[in-house]
Amino acid sequence: MQIPVTMKAMMLEQQKHPLVIKELPVPSPSDQQVLVKVIACGVCRTDLHILDGELLNPKLPLIIGHEIVGIVAGKGSGVSTLKEGDIIGIPWLAHTCGTCKFCLQGKENLCDSPLFTGYTIDGGYAQFTVAYEQFCFLLNKKYANASGAPLLCAGLIGYRSYNLIGKSAQNIGIYGFGAAAHLVTQLAIFQEKKIYAFTRDKDIKAQQFALQLGAVWAGDSSKPAPVKLDAAIIFAPVGSLIPKALMDIDKGGIVVCGGIHMSDIPTFPYDILWQERSIRSVANLTRKDGEDFLKLALQANIKTQTKLFHLHEANEALKQLREGKLNGAAVLLMPT
Ligand SMILES: [Zn+2]
Ligand SMILES: [Zn+2]
Repeated sequence: MQIPVTMKAMMLEQQKHPLVIKELPVPSPSDQQVLVKVIACGVCRTDLHILDGELLNPKLPLIIGHEIVGIVAGKGSGVSTLKEGDIIGIPWLAHTCGTCKFCLQGKENLCDSPLFTGYTIDGGYAQFTVAYEQFCFLLNKKYANASGAPLLCAGLIGYRSYNLIGKSAQNIGIYGFGAAAHLVTQLAIFQEKKIYAFTRDKDIKAQQFALQLGAVWAGDSSKPAPVKLDAAIIFAPVGSLIPKALMDIDKGGIVVCGGIHMSDIPTFPYDILWQERSIRSVANLTRKDGEDFLKLALQANIKTQTKLFHLHEANEALKQLREGKLNGAAVLLMPT
């Protein structure tokens, strides 16, 4: 593949400022990295949290984006399995130390010195990027295009959240019906679970979207659940949904918070937590999550609903995500 000298990228120069388009040198892979020509990159709520300064200390200037589908265009001398032309997915977890207590316990998502794509190293809002070979996923041809991008964070975090509610949960509430919810709903229905979708109040479009995907009920977040739920997954970054979800779940139920950032949680009476209800958060992903989920996505024939934007429209895509105007996931297409 002919590699150009420069590439276009949407750059974050300063938090709380819009991205700016730049012409930058194409990066060179280190020994363990591949050079990747980006086909498409998904737009995730985490990108908004970085932009808005809710996640601290990003690399600056920074190319954000961590739902990358791309084609291997070059590689470092230590790369052993990937080869030029392979189509791969690059997720949020970019690298882990392999030696801290969490890595040694198989909890690399909690690594003490991790790198994150599009946060502590450059990501995919660009025509090229580099990634550590060992943290990339080979993609099946079904997902080797823009439709695969949302699987790489929305899908993975959705899957990790879904796993944490336990296999016995039948009636599952999902709060915030965006990119992650639309994927986890399909997986849950494939496994014969019932999904109750809670959206922003009066967001009829999102409620219809959830019903189309097979949710048994969809309604406003401020309304009580129509049945006692076994578990709740909160994807919306809204702390007040935690006590609400606690009131919706049955004894022994769990509330899983899938986001990396949330507004503060209001105080609530102990009574709604009692009876062995629990609350927990989900952080990052392990490579095993990725491998397991990408297999399951094929089995369940998960279809991603995407709204496509050109790279230079990244600020508009982020704006629509912020305003809740997307059904499914925004994905940026790279100029060829
Ligand atoms: Zn580690
Ligand atoms: Zn993400």
